[in-house]
Amino acid sequence: MRIGVAGFEHETNTFAPVKADYNAFAEAKAYPPLVTGQDLITALRGKNIPTTGGIEALEAAGHEIVPLLWCTATPSAHVTKDAYERISGQILELLSDAGPLDGLFLELHGAMVAEHVDDGEGELLRRVRAVVGVDLPVSVALDLHANVTEAMVRHADYIDMYRYYPHIDMAETGRRAAAGLMRMLEGGGRPAKAFRQLDFLIPINGGCTDFTPAKEIYLSRLEHYLSEYEGLEGLSFASGFPHADFADVGPSVISFARDQTTADAVADAFAAEIAAREAQFLPEFYEADACIKRALALAEGASKPVVVADTQDNPGGGGPGDTTGVLRALIANEAKAAVIGAIVDPETATAAHQAGEGAVVDFRIGGKRYPGDTPVEVRCRVKRVRDDSWIGLGAMKGGLAVNLGKIALLETVVEGVQVVVASKPAQTADSSIFYHLGLDVGALPIVVVKSSVHFRADFTDRAETILVAVAPGPVAIDHHQLNYQKVRAGVRLMPRG
Ligand SMILES: [Zn+2]
Repeated sequence: MRIGVAGFEHETNTFAPVKADYNAFAEAKAYPPLVTGQDLITALRGKNIPTTGGIEALEAAGHEIVPLLWCTATPSAHVTKDAYERISGQILELLSDAGPLDGLFLELHGAMVAEHVDDGEGELLRRVRAVVGVDLPVSVALDLHANVTEAMVRHADYIDMYRYYPHIDMAETGRRAAAGLMRMLEGGGRPAKAFRQLDFLIPINGGCTDFTPAKEIYLSRLEHYLSEYEGLEGLSFASGFPHADFADVGPSVISFARDQTTADAVADAFAAEIAAREAQFLPEFYEADACIKRALALAEGASKPVVVADTQDNPGGGGPGDTTGVLRALIANEAKAAVIGAIVDPETATAAHQAGEGAVVDFRIGGKRYPGDTPVEVRCRVKRVRDDSWIGLGAMKGGLAVNLGKIALLETVVEGVQVVVASKPAQTADSSIFYHLGLDVGALPIVVVKSSVHFRADFTDRAETILVAVAPGPVAIDHHQLNYQKVRAGVRLMPRG
C-alpha cells in the first residue's frame, strides 16, 4: 500500500526570547535540514528519529513510502506565522499531489505553538484531515513532552509517544506508530480512544526516566497495562511541556483499544496512578554558586568529572543558550580546568576565529539574548577553533551529524575556566562537541552542559555524579516564576509536594 510520510516538529517555550522562523527549520544543526521527496529517506536513514523507524517498519512490511516533507528546529519561542503557514502549506500541497494514499504516518512533537495558533499540531491535523478526508488512517508519533489536545486526539486515528527521557527511543516510537497504522490497514479497523488530562504541571527535570517516578511509570507500569489488558493496542503518557502558556499545557494519558470500555478503563486507571505519584515529580536542584561549590568539593579526588546541568538555559527547552549565571559561578569559584558549553554566541565564535589559536583576547561572552543578563567581559586564550561537522555520541545522539557553524574553545587567562562557544543553538546533549575541540572529557574536573536531561544519555556513565544548577533562563524549573495567562482553571503550576 502507498503510505504518505511527513514530519514537522517544534517544541515551543512561549516564555523564551527567540522565535523559530522558516530558516530555523530549513537549515541543519543537530538534526538534518528540511527535506522533501526522496531526500527525506536518504537524510533520515539510520538515525534515531521517529520517521526513520516508521519508514523501516513500513518498508519491512512491503509498503510503498511516499515521502512528503520532514523538518525540525531547535526548541525556542513561538513558530512564526510565516514558518507555520509555509511549512504546513507545503505539507498539504505535497499531500494533495501525492496521488491516492492508503495511510498517513506523521511525526509531530505535540508542543508546538505558533504566533497565531496555540495548538500547532491540532490545527495541522485538522487541515490534514480536510485534505485526506475522514477515511484515511492517520497515525502520529509524538514526543512525550507533548501537550496533547482534544483536537489532536480527534483528528488522529492512532498516537504513540516516546517512553524514555532522554529520548533514546525516538526511532522505536516511530516503529510503534507505524505498527498502529498497519493494524488499521490490515483490517483491524479504527481503535477506540480515551484521553485524560492531569491537573498539575511536571517540571521537565522531574520527568527523567532514569529516576522515580517516571522510571516506574514508563518502563514498568505502562508495559503492565499493555500485557494485562486484552484488546489494548496502545498506551502513552505525555508528561507534557510545561513552558507553554496555553490552555492544554500539561500531562495526559491516551489509550487505544479494540473497545471503548477497555480504552476508558485503562486511561482512568493509569491516569489515577500517575496522579497519586504527584509529589514524586519534584526534582532536586541547587542555585548556581552553591552548585559549583558542591561540584568542586565532589571533584576533589574523583576519577571522573562532576557534570552540572545548566537546566534553565537548555536550548532543548527554548533557552537561548547564552545566559551567564553558571559561567560567572565557575569564574568566581576559580574552577580551574572546568569547562562550560556550548554557549551560543556567534559574535564571540567569530572573534575567536579571527584572532586565531593561541591568541589572547578580551571577549564579551554570552549574556546577549536573555532579558536582564549581560556579557561576561573576560580575557581568554583561544585554545581551539573549528567550523566542520562531527558525529554525536551516546544512546540518543549517536550517529547524528552535528554542525553548529564556527565553534571555539576559550580559556580564561586568570582562572583557567574553559568555555566552548558555538554559532548555532543546540542543546549540549552529549560530550561530542568537547571531544571535537580536543578536550579529554574524562580528565576534566567539572563539565557544565546547556541541557536539562538529555545529556544523561551520554554523560551518566562518564560522570562521577550529576548536579542540576539553577541560573537565569526561560526553562524555569519552578513554574511559579513564569507569567502564565492561559492555563485552564484548576491546573496546579507545580506538583503538590
Ligand atoms: Zn522531549
